[in-house]
Amino acid sequence: MAAPTICVSNRTLENLLEKLGESSPLVENAIESLCKSRFNAIFFLKIRACNGYTGFGVPFSRVFCDTETLCEEFYPFASIFSRGIEMLYNCLKKSNYIYSLDDVSKILLVRLLSFLTETDSMKFIEELERKSCGPLYDKPQFTVAIAEHVFSKLTLTRSYTVDKTCTLQDFVSGTCKCGCNTDIKHKFEDTSAGCSAVWHGSLDAIVGHAGDRVPLLISGNREFDEEYKYLTVDKHLNYHTIKHQLVAQAVVFSFLKQKNYPDSKISLVPVIGVSAKEVIFFLYDCKEDVLLQSVKMSLRCGKAVRYQTVIAIWLVLNYNYLGSGLGNIRNVHKCNFSSRARDVLEVYRSELVLGGVKESYEEDTLYPDDIPKEKICWPNKKPKFDF
Ligand SMILES: [Zn+2]
Repeated sequence: MAAPTICVSNRTLENLLEKLGESSPLVENAIESLCKSRFNAIFFLKIRACNGYTGFGVPFSRVFCDTETLCEEFYPFASIFSRGIEMLYNCLKKSNYIYSLDDVSKILLVRLLSFLTETDSMKFIEELERKSCGPLYDKPQFTVAIAEHVFSKLTLTRSYTVDKTCTLQDFVSGTCKCGCNTDIKHKFEDTSAGCSAVWHGSLDAIVGHAGDRVPLLISGNREFDEEYKYLTVDKHLNYHTIKHQLVAQAVVFSFLKQKNYPDSKISLVPVIGVSAKEVIFFLYDCKEDVLLQSVKMSLRCGKAVRYQTVIAIWLVLNYNYLGSGLGNIRNVHKCNFSSRARDVLEVYRSELVLGGVKESYEEDTLYPDDIPKEKICWPNKKPKFDF
């Protein structure tokens, strides 16, 4: 993956570390928690049954995926991001360490440290739940604001796109509604992905650029009042609704990544579920056929921003640089998607695309016209009626 031509001076990084100052122990505690705690654990899922390989195209909104959680072993979040977590630890603890880093690593550290030391970013998260009941009540407005003020700020290129179809419904203004008035008109694009023969559809938002793209799914609900149809944002993640789509999106994005960037070392590809109070991560590796899920993580702890969660988002969004794959996991369990999807595996491997995917849904049933008259049978003796 080509690194962007952004340069960061050592001085910038030194200044940010200085600015972090008294908050440094909070970052250290967060690192420790990501390395040990069950509050940030990840675990394996097995797919029992799903509609990703029926031979019918299924849009993300209609995905069904029954999973089983493997409860024998749970791993700390950092076990699949040891590259990033070690880099962050060394940056805080070892003087002169930052001078040994390459440009991409320096930029990524600047992104995280800027976020943690920037009052606006931290305030945005602190006020997010309250704003989701006010100016960010509409799901599209919430999506733009959180992509603009949280997710894109933690990525290398700071880029993101939001599903353009939401502009047809309720997005009337071209500015972010959180109160910042940032122009966001050009952020709406085609976010469709997949293939109309299997799982496919538009993502709420995609954060990052080229091979670094990570899908966002906003947990929301449709609400109606007298004259208007709202899509609102859930306070807590509605796990049983969003899980299905998140698994499907992780599967599609891992196969897409493999097809478009076959030389990439990391095939464990993440997707992020978001509500006003929480985030959750699903990761699928199409080479190993492995599906992982994190616990739900709160964006705040009391009134304050939860550092573990911000660092986890940073690790996930930059998984190509900070991820370490499955190498540290003692027992890797397959989820059995590939073996069950044998008949359509070639579609997943070679026909998925990003952009221009039209929604298609074929019901797995017959209509009266499909049934030839001569094939109508009586099970036993035909009754004699006079008509
Ligand atoms: Zn804003």
